[in-house]
Amino acid sequence: MINENKNTVLTNFIRNIIEKNLEANLYAEKKWSGQPGPLYAHKDAPIDTAKIRTRFPPEPNGYLHFGHAKSIILNFTLAQDFNGRCHLRFDDTNPEKENEEYVKSIIDSVHWLGYKFEDEHENNLYYASNYFDYMYEAAKVLINAGLAYVDKQTAEEIRINRGTLKEAGKDSPFRDQSIDENLKLFEEMKSGQYQDGEMVLRAKINMASPNINLRDPAIYRIRHVSHHNTGNKWCIYPMYTFAHPIEDALEKITHSICTLEFEDQRPFYEWVLKKLAEFDFLEKPLPKQHEFSRLNLSHVVLSKRKLIQLVEENHVNGWDDPRMPTLVGAKRRGYHPKGFKLFMDRIGVSKSDSVIDYQTFEDSMREVLNEECNRKITVLNPIKLIIENFDENHTEICTVPNHPQKPEEGTREVKLTKELWIEGEDFEINPPPKYFRLFPGNKVRLRYGFVIECTDYKLNDNGEVSTVFCKYFPETKSGTAGSDAVKVKGNIHWLSTKFSKPITIRNYDRLFLSENPNEFDNFLDDINQSSIETNSAYCEESISDVQTGEQFQFERHGYYIVDPDSNAGEIIFNRTATLRDTWQK
Ligand code: ATP
Ligand code: MG
Repeated sequence: MINENKNTVLTNFIRNIIEKNLEANLYAEKKWSGQPGPLYAHKDAPIDTAKIRTRFPPEPNGYLHFGHAKSIILNFTLAQDFNGRCHLRFDDTNPEKENEEYVKSIIDSVHWLGYKFEDEHENNLYYASNYFDYMYEAAKVLINAGLAYVDKQTAEEIRINRGTLKEAGKDSPFRDQSIDENLKLFEEMKSGQYQDGEMVLRAKINMASPNINLRDPAIYRIRHVSHHNTGNKWCIYPMYTFAHPIEDALEKITHSICTLEFEDQRPFYEWVLKKLAEFDFLEKPLPKQHEFSRLNLSHVVLSKRKLIQLVEENHVNGWDDPRMPTLVGAKRRGYHPKGFKLFMDRIGVSKSDSVIDYQTFEDSMREVLNEECNRKITVLNPIKLIIENFDENHTEICTVPNHPQKPEEGTREVKLTKELWIEGEDFEINPPPKYFRLFPGNKVRLRYGFVIECTDYKLNDNGEVSTVFCKYFPETKSGTAGSDAVKVKGNIHWLSTKFSKPITIRNYDRLFLSENPNEFDNFLDDINQSSIETNSAYCEESISDVQTGEQFQFERHGYYIVDPDSNAGEIIFNRTATLRDTWQK
């Protein structure tokens, strides 16, 4: 399945648009000075070697989640496939709530997913706050063209006069102020002469537009707060809807891809760009906005606000808690970047809203992990098995493939001795029908070892099986001529009690009980109180020298990753996912 996908490019409506644009030579004359900038910076520059430019524009006010991965994969893949570039741009025009911790983590997550925005040719890492001077210039271009005015109405008056879906809005009494007056007031706003909220700069479009977003939207507001990048240089900040199209145009973005909730903003996006190009501030061809439907996953919340709440109120152990649908959580959980790509290929890109079952996500992960992970043997619920006719001092070396489908991964040695751990589930006193594992009188193969026959068992004081006794058939060693001498239907795994190592395992269940926790008045009411369970288990001794982040398939159990909490005395594994229920023999 994975191999098939590597060779087929799955198409989608955005790819079709790009193909058409390229066929029409829309960007043949596009220039690029090597730096973002307005018309005067690019106009004498060479033709852009990047055929298209896309961008991923996170606001650095939280950690990235699975939804962002959809946008990252889409934008970076398009750039790769069409000989373009994808920019990572921090949309940090809002001075509040943004900080360096988030910036660093976002960069790490994009890299973790396998994408680069920097190489020997270009470093396409940008901060929208570096464009404040350009945005200020752009605002003045609009004022000078009679297309923006300073409005002294209160926020409440502006709100009321905006009208409703049924009623047109009312013009502001300041709408027809002279250009000179507007320039003077805007300058005074900038120099700090007014309080927050005292006035705003608005675009002059149409107070009767059926699209409320075009009823003279605010484009600059006063905020006396310092910004993490520009410090106290500014006390006026551009509104997001004004800043965003300018950011795209300065960076020569060709396809500005966003989620559907911005559809209603597209006319304003286009208005800003068209006017600024008309007055020679921006260079054509202008970026075009295209919307796709956001990722919604069952059993998960994907809103930054809610994720922040989970962390701040300690419902989870931080942003990278393996139960969190963040990319740092995914990494710690053991979800694989290739699994994200396979998943996004499967769900596709469209304009129709839907909720994807978490199972689809996990299945993509399993498929990738099955391919990527070498195997280890672990016993999760140990009971003792004693081979009565096995010499106490003998150690039999068994050769085990590291990956059954990938011989190039080689083999390792696992030692078989008289006393073994086997899974409690692999022995039944009274076997149900079609049970092919161990029960009194039955024979099974010790995987990679010998055929054994159960001779007896012993119960502990609680009446539970504590020890199983058996005899082995020395001529039946796996891989030898005699291995078929005794036919068996079952095959169980084991570990030598002498040559195994205790490990700690953290099993995770869903963080929310319902398919859609967002439907609750308070989504916290839907938290699964037993979403984490810690167990001890045995693993083969070769596990001793593993590193944080190493991943394995524990045969017959699932996929596991070494957690950073591990130390020399205790190796801790997170269960990424169980295997599919195929081992029901
Ligand atoms: P949230 O809604 O979780 O607060 P956001 O949209 O405010 O996220 P941004 O940092 O603004 O977060 O998002 C960066 C980019 O990621 C945007 O282009 C946005 O459209 C995209 N994005 C965010 N959530 C999703 C999602 N669930 N599916 C696809 N793309 C998404
Ligand atoms: Mg946002």
